[in-house]
This record gives sequence, C-alpha cells and structure tokens, in this order.
Amino acid sequence: MDGTSLPQVRTAIPGPASRARVEVLARHESPAITARRARRAAMIGAADDDPIVWDEAVGANVRDVDGNVYVDLTAGFGVAFVGHRHPAVVAAAQAQAARLPHAMGDAWPDATRIRLLEALAAVAPPGLDVAILGLSGSDAVEAAVKTGVLATGRPGVLAFGAGYHGLSIGALPLQGYKASFTEPFEALVSNQVRRLPFGGDLAAVEALLAQGSIGLVLVEPVLGRGGMLPAPEGWLAGLAAVARRHGALLAFDEIQSGLGRTGTLWAAEADGVVPDIVCVGKALGGGFPLSACLGTRAVMNGWGASTGEALHTQTFLGHPVGCAAALAVLDVIAREGLVARAAERGERFRSALNARGFAVRGRGLMLGVETGARSLAVSRALLRSGYLVLPAGTRGEVLGLTPPATVGDAQIDGFVEALGKAWEAP
Ligand code: PMP
Repeated sequence: MDGTSLPQVRTAIPGPASRARVEVLARHESPAITARRARRAAMIGAADDDPIVWDEAVGANVRDVDGNVYVDLTAGFGVAFVGHRHPAVVAAAQAQAARLPHAMGDAWPDATRIRLLEALAAVAPPGLDVAILGLSGSDAVEAAVKTGVLATGRPGVLAFGAGYHGLSIGALPLQGYKASFTEPFEALVSNQVRRLPFGGDLAAVEALLAQGSIGLVLVEPVLGRGGMLPAPEGWLAGLAAVARRHGALLAFDEIQSGLGRTGTLWAAEADGVVPDIVCVGKALGGGFPLSACLGTRAVMNGWGASTGEALHTQTFLGHPVGCAAALAVLDVIAREGLVARAAERGERFRSALNARGFAVRGRGLMLGVETGARSLAVSRALLRSGYLVLPAGTRGEVLGLTPPATVGDAQIDGFVEALGKAWEAP
C-alpha cells in the first residue's frame, strides 16, 4: 500500500477482525454514532452491513484491521485533501507534539498559532484576514453565527435548502439535510433560523431580508452532503448583492469546498464572489482537528474591544499540533500545486465516468455520481470491491466523491470499472 495502490480485498467484508471489534464498539459507544446492520439492513435489504475498522492510511489508501486495502474516495470526510498521512504534515505535527502540544487559548497564545493566523490571512479571500480558530466545522460555523449577531445586532440567520453545517446545538438548526437530525432537539435549538431553497428565487431572499431580522446569510457555495451541487451560475453574486443591500453579512461555509477541493482555492472564487465571512475546516488540519472562521476586520470588530475576559474561547483553541499541521497543509497545497491538481483530477474522474455512461455533478474533486436513490446499496457493493465512497443528497441520490488530490489514474479507472459492476449487481 503506497497511497496510489489498487484495492486488495482478502477477506469477506467486513472481515473477522473488524466484526470482533465492532461488537466491542457496540457495547461501549453510544448507538448515536455507528450505524449497524439492524438499522441499515432494513434500508438496503442486506443482511450484513457492519463497518470495516480502519487501521492505517496513506495517500488515497486505507488498510483495515483485517489487512484489506481500500481506495478512499471520501478522503475521510474530505479531510485528507493532501493525502492521508502526508509526510510533511506528520513531521510538522510530530515536531510540535515533541515541543509544545498544548498552550492556553485565550490566556497565553503560542508562536505556532500566531504563524498559522498569518498564513491563513495570506490565503483567505481578499480582506478576510482576521480569524477565530476552532476544532471542528461546527465550531467555525458557530463562531460565524456569533459574529453575525454581534456585527449586525440581528439574531436571525438565513440558511438554504439541504445545507449541512454540523450537528452541535448551535449549528444544528442551520442544517436542512435531514429533518430527523434536528427534530429530537427542537426545544433546544435556536428559533431564529429561516430557510429558503438553495439556488432559489432571490426575490424571496430580498423580501425576507427586508423584514430586518436576518443578520447572517449562510450558504455552502457547493452543497456537499446535501448533494454535491454547485450554486447556479450568478446566484451567489445575486445573494451577495441582496445581503449587502439589507445590511446582512454573507458567510460561505467552505468547510468541505475550501482549500482547493473544487479546483480553485475557494469554491466561491469560481463565482467571483467574496463573502464577509468564510468557514474552513476538514482539509485545513490535514487529519488533525482544526477549523477557522475568517472575517474582515470590520466584521470581527463587532466583537468589541478586548476587555480582559475572552468572550469566545475553548480549552483547546488554536491547538498547537493542529496549527503546526495546518501550516504544513497550506505549504503542501502551494508547493505541490494541489489546487490545479484537483481541477485536473476532477476532469479525469468526470470523463472516465461519463465515458461509462454515468452522469456526474459537482466541481473539481467534489463530485456526485447520480444513482437515482441507489447510492447506499451501490456504496456497499463498492466497499466489498475495495472502494470507499459515501452517499450524498437528501435521498441518497448521488455517490459523493471527495478523494485526495493525490488519487492516481489506476485508482480512478479501477473505481469506474467497479462502479459499473456494482451498478449492474449491487
Ligand atoms: N459544514 C460543511 C459544509 C460540512 O461538510 C461539514 C461536515 N461534513 C460541517 C460543516 C461540519 O463539520 P464538523 O463535522 O467538523 O463539525
């Protein structure tokens, strides 16, 4: 397994070692987390749907505890954009862990975090050079929501369609991907969130914003979990114009689409729109938990002057190991030309899939293969042939592909071949 290897499937999937560990997992981890056969079998009609248990990863490959090697076309939820276990990221994290693994967020910062803030400002959309760091995508989204309230004095947030922004209590009401995620917690979540169709009528947005309660307009420039759908041409620019007319801030959730995945550093670059706030996560830490909410100085000044007691922080804010890894990730993206590489790999994927008769949506390496609503069954069949993909879209209407930018030709062609077979006999 060297990162560009083809699958090597040696056991039934899941293999015996995975099965044994999942039994332990099921005993000791809340059923909130891992979907097991009883729950999902009903949906796909399969007898055995337990997960494989990961053991090791490199580049676009993952090995499970049974020794089976897979091609990871999810990049671990889009995180391993530079490839799993990139040597420069590993070296930076190891060096930082050996020197200073933890500092004190709002009390005493460390030098690595300060270097990262400078590096982020250099790659941010123009003018968005002031950050609030977090550990997860949800953290970055919640920081954006708080910033919106403080900078505009309005508590309302407008979100769109099947957008997904995380499942923490603050981020939860913003998602429209699955109502079932929010419903049990309805009594706890904000009632200040409004939702309109993604890519929909801007006159409706205008009418809502004219009422004056919305401070933040939050959108994914390319809908990820909700179906790998880029915003229609011109829509984001129209949205920006409406938001500005009514004094609302425009925030782009680029947690999945940002840092090159769509073939431009920021997905919204392709639309020619610069927001007031952008959220970034996933790929940023190269496998370590790190996120950022980036805004303009004017917007961030909404937090007011520092008074000696932090208004927003957390124990692990700006975690030094995550910051060191992120510095390495930004360097690797630039040095290895991974933004252009994502555009090129995306075209390679698209043409191979189209040649085999599959319809593809998305941009760069944020792609969805249209399956009707068969994605779950097809993804299980692909797992058995050694390809990791996840269903996306509210009805599972696409197979989401968010591979590392380092994915190889043979891996792409092997996947398309396996998909053809899985399609015929899932
Ligand atoms: N926003 C988007 C667009 C995402 O894709 C995700 C994660 N899938 C999140 C926010 C939430 O990130 P996290 O799971 O790290 O909280």
